[in-house]
Amino acid sequence: MGKINIAKNAGFCFGVKRAVSMALNGAKKHNDVYMLGDIVHNEYVIERIKNAGIKTAKNIDQIKDGALLLRAHGTTSEIYNEAKKKEIKIIDATCPLVLEIHKIAKTLETDGYKVVIIGDYNHDEVIGIASQIKKPIIIAKPEDVKKNIKMIIKKIGVVVQSTQNIENTKKIIAELIPKCRELKFMDTICGPTKSYQREIRSMSKKNDAMIIVGSFKSANTYRLTEISKSLNLNTYQVESENDLKPEWFKTADSVGITAGASTPDWIINKVVDKIRLFNFN
Ligand code: SF4
Repeated sequence: MGKINIAKNAGFCFGVKRAVSMALNGAKKHNDVYMLGDIVHNEYVIERIKNAGIKTAKNIDQIKDGALLLRAHGTTSEIYNEAKKKEIKIIDATCPLVLEIHKIAKTLETDGYKVVIIGDYNHDEVIGIASQIKKPIIIAKPEDVKKNIKMIIKKIGVVVQSTQNIENTKKIIAELIPKCRELKFMDTICGPTKSYQREIRSMSKKNDAMIIVGSFKSANTYRLTEISKSLNLNTYQVESENDLKPEWFKTADSVGITAGASTPDWIINKVVDKIRLFNFN
C-alpha cells in the first residue's frame, strides 16, 4: 500500500476564503450582485457563487441596479472610479494584501521611482496594480528586462504580483541591478504563496508522484505545478478527481498532494478519496 502525503498549505488562502464569504453574504443582502469576470480562478467555486444568485456582467454599463463584487485579486482604478461615479454599491472582496501592493506602487511613484511590476502580463492582479500608476514597466521573465528597459534608469522601485514564483523574481532582480543606479525592492509576494511554494519544493523531492489540484486558469496553481515539475517529472495537475489516471501511480510508493489557493476543500477531498482507490492510504 502506498502513502498519501497532503500538504499542510493546500487550498483556499485567507484572501480567497474572505472573498467567497463576502460574495455569499452579499448575495443574501442584495437583490442583484454582479461580478466582472470571475472573482476567483476556479470553476467549481464560481458555480457555487452563481448558484447563490450572483450574476456576471461584461462591463459596468450592464449594471443598472444592484451591487458590484470586486474580485480577490483586485480591479483597475478606472473600474473602481466608474462604479463610484455611477453610485453603484461596491462589495470590495479585494484581498487586503493586494490593496497593500497598490499602495506601495503609488508610494514608490510619488517618491520618484520608475515602478517595475514583476508579474504575468495579462493577469487581473497585474492589470489592477498597473492601473494605480502612470507608466509602469511590467516584467514577466528575466529575459524581458533587456527587451523592456533599453536605457539606464536612475531609480527603479519594484513590486511583485502576490503569487509570483520566488526564484523567477530573484532572477529578474539580478537582471534589473545593472539597469539602474538605485533599486528599491518591495517584496510583495504574499505569505500564503511563500508557504505553498516552500512546501512544494520539499514535497516534490520526497514523493514519487505529485498531484496538484486546481484550475488551469489559476496562476498560483500553475506556479505550483511549474515548481514541482522542475523537481519531480512525475507531477500532474488536475482540476478534479475525474482527471486522475491510474498509470501515474503504478510505480509510486508515495504521492504528494497539494492545491492552489483558489481550490476548495471539497474538490481536494474528492481527489484524495479517488487516489485511495489506487491502493494508497
Ligand atoms: S494568494 Fe495571497 S494575495 Fe492572493 S488572495 Fe490569497 S492571500 Fe491574498
